[in-house]
Amino acid sequence: MKCIILSLFPDAAAAYFDYSIMKRAREKSLLTIDFCSLRDFGMGKHRITDDVPYGGGAGMVLKPDPIFSALDAMAQKYGEIRVIMPSPQGIVFRQEKALDFSRESRVIVFVCGRYEGIDARVSEGITLETVSIGDYVLTGGELPALVMIDAAVRLIPGVLGDKDSLKGESFSNGLLGYPQYTRPAEFRGMRV
Ligand code: SAH
Repeated sequence: MKCIILSLFPDAAAAYFDYSIMKRAREKSLLTIDFCSLRDFGMGKHRITDDVPYGGGAGMVLKPDPIFSALDAMAQKYGEIRVIMPSPQGIVFRQEKALDFSRESRVIVFVCGRYEGIDARVSEGITLETVSIGDYVLTGGELPALVMIDAAVRLIPGVLGDKDSLKGESFSNGLLGYPQYTRPAEFRGMRV
């Protein structure tokens, strides 16, 4: 899998990929992850990326121009890209989508919103998938991007040490996983 996280705060997401299974996947070149700072595509001397909501209202909205410019640059560099926009208004992310991502050969770009969200012309003007990780509101799209990438990467053959780990796992066959135990056989009167 090749992923890019486009964000105002790329460093906030980067550390996650330096540990455990995500780190191993990168070392085996089964995952390539890049971070792109939206600020680099900001407008003018101050690299502006947001503005007040058109017509009034609370908070700030991410401007369309920096996002279009960033995606144009990526398309030019990588050819066809698959664009995912995390949003509470999207279709809910499920295991099937994780499997779909794990098999994607194109570069997957996660366009992370902040504040009140992203100017709607981004989703009007660019072919993308709007995906939610659940019915609640977070402060940014970085955690949703991490959730989706993590769920997909562990499905790539060779990422988990033991390929049997995926067998019988929750959602792998429409059921949930079974209870797991480790030693000792009896703990505080409870048996395995
Ligand atoms: N005003 C928006 C919420 C913006 S939250 C609304 O009412 O729908 C700011 C950003 O956080 C969003 O642009 C998105 O990138 C991210 N985000 C928040 N909750 C999310 C969720 N449940 N799933 C995916 N992304 C989410």
